[in-house]
Amino acid sequence: MGDQIRVSRGRANAAALRLCVLVLLASLLPACGSRQTQGLEVTGPTMGTYFAVKVPSPPEGLDAEALRAGIEGVLQAVNGEISTYDPESELSRLNRNPSTDWIPISPRLYAVIAEGLRISALSDGAFDITVGPLVNLWGFGPEVHADTAPAPEAIRSALARVGYGEIELSSVPLALRKARGDLYIDLSALGEGYGADRMAAYLESLGIADYMAAVAGTIRVRGLNAKGAPWGIAVEVPRADRRAVQRVLPLGEGSVSTSGDYRNFFEEGGRRYSHHIDPRTGESVTHRLASATVVLSGGRDSAMTADGLATALVVLGEEAGPALAESLGLAVLFIVREGEGLRELTTSAFDRIQ
Ligand code: FAD
Repeated sequence: MGDQIRVSRGRANAAALRLCVLVLLASLLPACGSRQTQGLEVTGPTMGTYFAVKVPSPPEGLDAEALRAGIEGVLQAVNGEISTYDPESELSRLNRNPSTDWIPISPRLYAVIAEGLRISALSDGAFDITVGPLVNLWGFGPEVHADTAPAPEAIRSALARVGYGEIELSSVPLALRKARGDLYIDLSALGEGYGADRMAAYLESLGIADYMAAVAGTIRVRGLNAKGAPWGIAVEVPRADRRAVQRVLPLGEGSVSTSGDYRNFFEEGGRRYSHHIDPRTGESVTHRLASATVVLSGGRDSAMTADGLATALVVLGEEAGPALAESLGLAVLFIVREGEGLRELTTSAFDRIQ
């Protein structure tokens, strides 16, 4: 088995961020022997979590400093396009714009919103890029974390602002129109994957054919690792109290994204409230599905798509999630809580790639 990149995700506080980086570095260590002295590895903070890039055979002239500068530039650009945490990003400005006329948008923002709308429709609204007012109300957005469940009236009034059908996109010219001026778009469920895709595109623009590019639990790989083997992606046991590997997935070319409820949640009155919000009810998701890991390969390599689908499947839960994944022919590993234990559920496409 090749290098193992541990998959975990979630909004990271400083301690968790350090832990993530340590875990990631630790998982890379076995590959840092003599065979890899030429390889480059770069990690660092981004999007409230961390990124990691690994290039086993860098082109001549590329060193770690240059790679870091290039990758950080790409991630800064991504923040400037789609972050709701940066008040000056293009998305934040769009969210503040009360106009219900056509608003010109950049090709990049257009592409992420278009994919978000596609997944919103695929999941029949379980995934919804206009869920932002509810995410913020529950304390999982850029505002201060409340760690308390909101009042039913507040949920009802935020819910009234949610609905992906209220967004219209025009491809020529590139523009977006909101049916209501107070619509608020949240692309966080796609952002890690979008970041990984953008880093991958940057690496390929440098002529790099073998790489791993990850933002937290969303990873895109191509080619071979330093040992000349397919990359190995470790899926975490979905538990908040410890870190362990559930499974290692071999992947030659493609993307893997895990979405789970075990890192970003709060507890109140004995109940666990996750950062996944069901836009159809306004409630934080509380079912038994702990995580969904989506593997896209064979030409369907978009990490952004894997990222969004993983969130959609987790919101759908342990019955509707696997049913949708199976009907779409997706390779997915679901992990469901059963009492104190965990049960794996896999789709037939996932079984075929194992
Ligand atoms: P995922 O499952 O991928 O996504 C969960 C997130 O999606 C939720 O947190 C919510 O925002 C949204 N969501 C919830 N329910 C739904 C639903 N039904 N449909 C659609 N979306 C839903 N965090 C910080 O703390 N600090 C930062 O500075 C920061 N900067 C960021 C910059 C960018 C460009 C992006 C994209 C995100 C940033 N974040 C930041 C957010 C942080 O990275 C998110 O917590 C993370 O992207 C969510 O991913 P996840 O892997 O935890 O879970």
